[in-house]
Amino acid sequence: MTYLKPLDGTKKIQLHDIDPSYHAGLDKEEGEKRSAELLAELAELQELLYAASTHAVLIVLQGIDTAGKDGTIRHVFSSVSPQSCRVASFKVPTPEEAAHDFLWRIHKQTPAKGSMVIFNRSHYEDVLVVRVHKLVPETVWRARYEQINAFEQLLATNGTLILKFLLHISKEEQEQRLREREKDPTKAWKLSVADWKERELWDDYQKAFEDALNHCATPFAPWYVVPSNHKWFRNLAIAEILVETLRPLRQEWLKQLEARGKEELAQIKALRKDKDAS
Ligand code: AMP
Ligand code: MG
Repeated sequence: MTYLKPLDGTKKIQLHDIDPSYHAGLDKEEGEKRSAELLAELAELQELLYAASTHAVLIVLQGIDTAGKDGTIRHVFSSVSPQSCRVASFKVPTPEEAAHDFLWRIHKQTPAKGSMVIFNRSHYEDVLVVRVHKLVPETVWRARYEQINAFEQLLATNGTLILKFLLHISKEEQEQRLREREKDPTKAWKLSVADWKERELWDDYQKAFEDALNHCATPFAPWYVVPSNHKWFRNLAIAEILVETLRPLRQEWLKQLEARGKEELAQIKALRKDKDAS
């Protein structure tokens, strides 16, 4: 079964209609078992993606502080080869980045064919934090939805599979996670007074997320809202979507590789024949 449906822009959504504690009636043990199977398949598919090098994969992770972007990356990466995978994290723009259009730093980090890149935050920050903190006038950030769609369409028509995940947690869950960071010395490095200040803007962020989802969910770059109060369900749902997106390409990739193998073999044979003849 498929746990989550893609948003492709045909239906507008409201975030408060989506239960952040949803877990498809599974328990943690079942969920983790299924997740492990999916990650094994993902590892195989990623190797084919790399070998065939006809497609690229771009995974966008967004979510409020503590939603689990880092945890998701650790989980997804636990199975794939670092040879053809990397993470690109987007922070407050440097002066050089800020002196360019907002997509300049993003475009440089997009995946090449054969590789997978995870965006830990992304170009969406330019319609999220930038909007919430009024860093540019409304006319500027409003125009960005269309600019983002055009950019993502460019990537998609050039062979990039784009998957965008909003990690959706409740306000109560965020408070609990922030407090845990205060208690757990291994998590204390993540403590930030800014997180408590940002939390006061919770409703503004929810509205900004909702608008980003509703304006920028497209058939070529769908958004998924991932119920993320349960970390194991978040991991499972994302693993499943990755696998189900790549699986239909398996045959095409295998054919590619077979054809390439045959061609090389023919050349090796021809080389031997020439050698034998001389
Ligand atoms: P973290 O992900 O916790 O390392 O924090 C990165 C910070 O950079 C977050 O507070 C983001 O909101 C901020 N950030 C990322 N992109 C932008 C942007 N385009 N403009 C302003 N702030 C940004
Ligand atoms: Mg942070």
